[in-house]
Amino acid sequence: MAPNKLNGPSTCTPEVSLQGEYSVDRVSRERVSQDAGRYRTKVPAGVLRPASVEDIQEIVRRCAREGIPVAARGLANTTDGQGLTDGVLIDMTALDTIHEIGADYAIVDAGADWLQLTNAANARGLTPPALTGFLGLTFGGTLSLGGIPPAIQSGGQVDSVIELEVVTGTGELRTCSAEHDKELFEAVLAGLGQYGIITRATVRLGVAPERVRGHELSYSELSEFFRDFRTLLHRSEVSELYGEFGEGQHLSAFTFHQAAEPPDDAYVLRDLTPTETTISDNDFLPHVTRIDVAVEELRAALDWDHRAKPWLTVWLPETTAERYVTEVLDNLTPTDIGAGGFVLLYAHRRAKLTRPSLRLPQDDGSDWVYLFTLMTATTDFSEDLLTRNRTLYDRARALGGTRYPIESVVFTQADWADHYGDRWPHLQQLKHTTDPAGILTPGPGVF
Ligand SMILES: Cc1cc2nc3c(=O)[nH]c(=O)nc-3n(C[C@H](O)[C@H](O)[C@H](O)COP(=O)(O)OP(=O)(O)OC[C@H]3O[C@@H](n4cnc5c(N)ncnc54)[C@H](O)[C@@H]3O)c2cc1C
Repeated sequence: MAPNKLNGPSTCTPEVSLQGEYSVDRVSRERVSQDAGRYRTKVPAGVLRPASVEDIQEIVRRCAREGIPVAARGLANTTDGQGLTDGVLIDMTALDTIHEIGADYAIVDAGADWLQLTNAANARGLTPPALTGFLGLTFGGTLSLGGIPPAIQSGGQVDSVIELEVVTGTGELRTCSAEHDKELFEAVLAGLGQYGIITRATVRLGVAPERVRGHELSYSELSEFFRDFRTLLHRSEVSELYGEFGEGQHLSAFTFHQAAEPPDDAYVLRDLTPTETTISDNDFLPHVTRIDVAVEELRAALDWDHRAKPWLTVWLPETTAERYVTEVLDNLTPTDIGAGGFVLLYAHRRAKLTRPSLRLPQDDGSDWVYLFTLMTATTDFSEDLLTRNRTLYDRARALGGTRYPIESVVFTQADWADHYGDRWPHLQQLKHTTDPAGILTPGPGVF
């Protein structure tokens, strides 16, 4: 591999003619040499801001011919260098058009973000069905990972995709869906950028709720928190449910509703035993965009973007989740979390998570799976934090868990084979046909 082969004139080389901007100057390359983790650095040889899908095809063909690695970059919110490369980096945010919003779907460029679509759809009384807590994430980014919301029954963002347009590792442009080219569709959704670069997506929209009733509950005992968390989850009367740990344990339950039909607080809270309860009301749009506002505040107050974030996120079967979370929280120190750090627990109905590349925990007979995230933020990064994550991952694995690879666990190829289980031989074969030169998205080290 010779990553600097594409160095040269900044718009075109004799072999590649591009409508967009291909930059090789140090400032442009260093600007995209890190992700949200802030502890890994890879300076690409060149950065393409494509003006069209043809530009992406052109550069991928050239990279394939010459064996140069190539990665798409969305808003770089992954933490362990998943989207970094010393080859060619394609800045997908250059293509961020919302092409169409229909009665129940939208067609978007992969470099657009969910906040853009949420705002545009809301103006028509519509919403994407699965919204991540934070919406400043591109379509290409979350559709390559999963896009798991605090909602408990919506499925992930990958589950609401109708059709994708993908440039494979040979530069071929393919349109795929559950009906057409299904193998590629299922490989690419939550496929970590290994089989193609998503350039466009058609995603489902539904009617936006008007209002959101919030019930925020505090607990002094973790066991009480879990009892009520499970009660609310199994009743499934609320729309969103998550836990947050730090100073005590807090449970947040939000119920989406139309203005004329508010939920009955006493009914929602029946038989629960929090030490404190706060009830709130909000419109839908400010509710689903509030974490974006909070992240802006963290950025301003703590220079949050520049803190190292060696995060850990694991899926757990319901039957072992309480044991795992209790063990982890018992051993966490304040520096494991850090200022601007969070510890969160989501849960989701297993049957709604339908994409095979999103690896779920062992089936324990429960309808529910849990997603635990340790979002460390620190100004004092050390490799020990990655060792900690590996130990915590191994423990989750032993309890039937899997990893949600938005984050930071050092993984070998044997770990990836284990991660994909029965699906591994099929994925190896698909990799061979969609990316024969093995150039796409080297960051996670899957192949
Ligand atoms: C504050 C915060 C909150 C978050 N909350 C949630 C949450 O609630 N739920 C959740 O599931 N996740 C959450 N995440 C994680 C987030 O979903 C992932 O990090 C996601 O990848 C972010 O999208 P991005 O645009 O930043 O992608 P990037 O980090 O830029 O890319 C992610 C990976 O996908 C590849 N990629 C990017 N674009 C494409 C493309 N077009 N085609 C193929 N491959 C591509 C990249 O090469 C990289 O390997 C959160 C992250 C942060 C920082």
